Amino acid sequence: MRSRHVIVGGGIVGLSVALAIARRGEDVLVLDAGRPASTLRSAAVVRTIAADPMLAVLAQLSLSWFERWTEDGDGTSPFEQCGVFVVLPEESRSIRMSAIDAATGSAELLAASGYVPPRDGLVYHDRRGGLIDPIRAVGALQRAIQINGGRLAAALVTGIESRHGAVSGVTTSAGSVPADIVIVAAGRWTAQILGDLWPGSPFDLQRAEVATFASEGPRPELPLIDLCRGVLVRRWHDDGLLTSLRETTPVSFADDAEQGCDIEQIRTRIEPVLQSRLGRVTSQWTAVYDNALDDRPYVGAIGPHLYVAAGFGGFGFKLAPAIGLLLADMVAEVEPALDVSAFAPTRRATASCLRDFGLREPESAGVSA
Ligand SMILES: Cc1cc2nc3c(=O)[nH]c(=O)nc-3n(C[C@H](O)[C@H](O)[C@H](O)COP(=O)(O)OP(=O)(O)OC[C@H]3O[C@@H](n4cnc5c(N)ncnc54)[C@H](O)[C@@H]3O)c2cc1C
Repeated sequence: MRSRHVIVGGGIVGLSVALAIARRGEDVLVLDAGRPASTLRSAAVVRTIAADPMLAVLAQLSLSWFERWTEDGDGTSPFEQCGVFVVLPEESRSIRMSAIDAATGSAELLAASGYVPPRDGLVYHDRRGGLIDPIRAVGALQRAIQINGGRLAAALVTGIESRHGAVSGVTTSAGSVPADIVIVAAGRWTAQILGDLWPGSPFDLQRAEVATFASEGPRPELPLIDLCRGVLVRRWHDDGLLTSLRETTPVSFADDAEQGCDIEQIRTRIEPVLQSRLGRVTSQWTAVYDNALDDRPYVGAIGPHLYVAAGFGGFGFKLAPAIGLLLADMVAEVEPALDVSAFAPTRRATASCLRDFGLREPESAGVSA
């Protein structure tokens, strides 16, 4: 199973990196353990508005990619550019962002779309934003990788192998897989896999509760990310609504067990925003955000021929195509089109005062996108 590039992790980030490398005609193999990862548990709303200007630029680059994304064969896309409402706390007015300057919104537009506007807060309508179907997205990327000559395999990676101080492959539960270049994009498991090779790379893990409801009566067409009230609402498949609440209490791997959601809490928080009853619960799950302490992902080299792409928190879908292109440049030792040194995985991330517009106060509620 030797490969020039091995990617550990087949979530949205690992697959995007693999596709960018495969499209350059390079040999690439994705190894995935099938863990309960964020990608298939995501709300997968894409927007260009972000508190961090660097993330906003990458989100816009990714959106250009999504806008051209058609699945092979039927010409349809896992991305639907319907626009997104983003409601921000008044405090964010002082943050200057080019993406926001371009977005306009109003409480009337929000109300006309079936939401109750918040009493305070700034309403933006991000026209370029939209919805991704995570299952279709993963399938489409996997097919595209294979069409471009890349390979995918199921395997649990347990460590990185080196010879004479250089990366020589990975250890898996089924044996060694030799490689010249290894990229670990294993979400919150990344630090575990790398062990001592990546010291001082903390994650600030947070749990999210996601539930889908059958629609009873009219439902809003556009997704809403309301950082004042800490809620996310989007259409889910043909006739449902997906809601997501992010808990601000940090969790550890010990809290990892599958737990149900507090459906009553979800109803209490979401129904006033919709001013209607949510229907019956059709599914529910919990998921974990792998935030970096400063809310910037870790992207880049941690040693010769050893790379990391992790810590995407609530940004993985928004940023994945751009990160794929940038990392494909880095591993090819081409100067990336953008300076991403602020994402260096070797930096010492310290807490930022903002968490994507929501003030980072333990008692305040954030949302999952
Ligand atoms: C509830 C929720 C809502 C979200 N909503 C949004 C949103 O609206 N918009 C947005 O842009 N982002 C959103 N996000 C964030 C986004 O979903 C994540 O940032 C993204 O999915 C992370 O992708 P990833 O590939 O880095 O990691 P993951 O999806 O966690 O994938 C990691 C992969 O690594 C594999 N793996 C782990 N360990 C090993 C091992 N030892 N060997 C081999 N493989 C291994 C796993 O099986 C998995 O497939 C949300 C996240 C959550 C939790």
